[in-house]
Parts: sequence; C-alpha cells; structure tokens
Amino acid sequence: MRLKTPVNAWNGTVLVLGGTPEARQIVKFLIGRTPLKTIISLAGVLGNDAKQVLRQQVELMAADRLAYRLGGFGGIDGLVNYLDTTQVSAVIDATHAFARQISANAHEATLRAGIPLLRYLRPQWQSIEGDQWKTVRDLKEAAKILPPNCHAMLAIGRMSYDSFRSRDDCQFLLRSIGPVDSSELPGNFTHIQAMPGHVPEEEMALMKQFGVDCLVTKNSGGDRSYLKLVAARYLRLPVVMVERPELPYCAEVSSLNELDLWLDQNGFKM
Ligand code: NAP
Repeated sequence: MRLKTPVNAWNGTVLVLGGTPEARQIVKFLIGRTPLKTIISLAGVLGNDAKQVLRQQVELMAADRLAYRLGGFGGIDGLVNYLDTTQVSAVIDATHAFARQISANAHEATLRAGIPLLRYLRPQWQSIEGDQWKTVRDLKEAAKILPPNCHAMLAIGRMSYDSFRSRDDCQFLLRSIGPVDSSELPGNFTHIQAMPGHVPEEEMALMKQFGVDCLVTKNSGGDRSYLKLVAARYLRLPVVMVERPELPYCAEVSSLNELDLWLDQNGFKM
C-alpha cells in the first residue's frame, strides 16, 4: 500500500472513471481549468465507438496532459496495482449510477491505495404531482410487477433487458442509444436505436406509435432523458422506476462547481 502523502497540486494525476457524458465534461474541466494530469478510463463496451469518442477528445484537448485507457483493471487488486504503478493521486468515479461493480471496486481500491475518491453523480429524478411511479429495487422486480399483457417501453439501456425475457405475455419496445443484436431478442421485443427525443412531444409520439401503456426506466437522472417521464405524465402512463443501487459511502458531487471546491479542499489547487 502506498502511504497517503500530501498531493503536490501541480504534479497530481487524476484518474477519471468514465462511460458517461459527465465524465467527458469533467475531463474537459480538469484539462482546461486545472494543471492536473488526467487519465480517462472506459470499460470499452462500445469497442471502436469508445475509441473514436476518446480520440476526438484527445485531439480537442492538450494531449500531453491527457491519457486514456480502455478495458477493465482486473478487479480491485488490478485497480490498486494500476493506481500504484501510474502514481494516481485521486480518483473521480464518474461512471453511470447503475455501474455498481466498478464504483464498489473504486471505493475499496482507493482506500487500499490511500488516495481520495470523489463520486460524481447526476441528481436523481423526483416524482411530482401527476406522476404515477412505482419504485422498485431492481430490474427483476420491475419485470415481476408489470401488469399482464402490457405494452411496456423499456428505457433501461441496451444490455439490461434479460430480466424481461420471462414476460412473454407482454410486448416490449426497447429503446437504446447503442446497438443491440436483434437476433438475440425474443419475438415480443421491438428494438429501436435512437437518442431520447428533444421535447416531450417526440417521446409522446413514440409511445403512441407503439401503443405503449407503461414505461420502465432506471433512475439515472439527466435532463434529456427526463423527457420520457414528462411524456408519461402527460399521457397518464404508469412508470416502473428502478432505484439506484446502494454504494459504499464516499464524497459525492453533482456539478463542476462542487468538483472545483473538492479539488481545492483536497489540495489539488493553489
Ligand atoms: P459495472 O458492472 O460496474 O462494471 C463491470 C466491470 O467493467 C468492472 O468490474 C470493470 O472491470 C469494468 N469497468 C466498468 N467501468 C469501467 C471504467 N470506466 N474503466 C475501466 N473498467 C471499467 O459496469 P457496467 O454497468 O457494465 O457499465 C460499464 C460501463 O458503461 C461503465 O463505465 C458505465 O459508466 C457505463 N454505463 C453504464 C450504464 C448502466 O446502466 N450500467 C449506462 C450507461 C453507461 P474490472 O473489474 O476488470 O476492473
């Protein structure tokens, strides 16, 4: 284990665990507004798409202070080893709120390495008057409580639909930003690869087109993806809302201003 030493602000290296638009903003912020060296790490699940995104980013920014890496670290031990050999001074976990494993690993690994961890999460969505949300702990529970023979829209990401295979009485509209191998999908699934609409009316049109009578989503937070919830409210559709997984405690922020403050408080800025 590396002893926790005061970080030399101007020579620090920050590892950003990415996979979200927020991670990209954080990297831009770190490179543009601080003198820190930054490494962004992606799981690599998007394959060449991920590489392409990163390449553009590197070209846009001061490449000498930005490095990137792809692929898992090999569990907690692998991450501890990476933090040590790369002389990382702090980790910012900007992975998705539902990426439970890597967040738990980052927590344990930074403890072992004796360096600070900051988690950057979008604020959760809150229901308001007119919403008909049923909150569940996970996707399995979501699949269980769907009404019989319903036409559900699944806005849960492209890799999380397995739990719904058992509901062959229902019709599913799976919308995802990334591609899905449609040959893997059961016959009662329709997949569309698309970004969320820009306005609630676009989301409503999609729901009407497919005769959606219920929406299933994860409480990921975010403005653009909130519009489907506005659409469901207008259409008076029930929503099955999957809660975020519980994560071990660490410092958490949800804005770049708060991140700036945290860097200050942890001795990364003069
Ligand atoms: P996960 O279950 O928490 O992680 C599985 C494994 O993938 C981790 O143990 C780690 O492998 C590797 N990994 C994950 N994120 C990594 C990163 N940023 N850099 C290096 N390795 C990483 O993650 P997931 O839910 O499959 O999500 C994978 C990625 O997609 C995450 O980076 C996440 O931010 C992004 N994402 C997830 C969702 C979602 O709904 N889950 C939605 C949008 C984007 P090792 O143990 O070998 O280190």
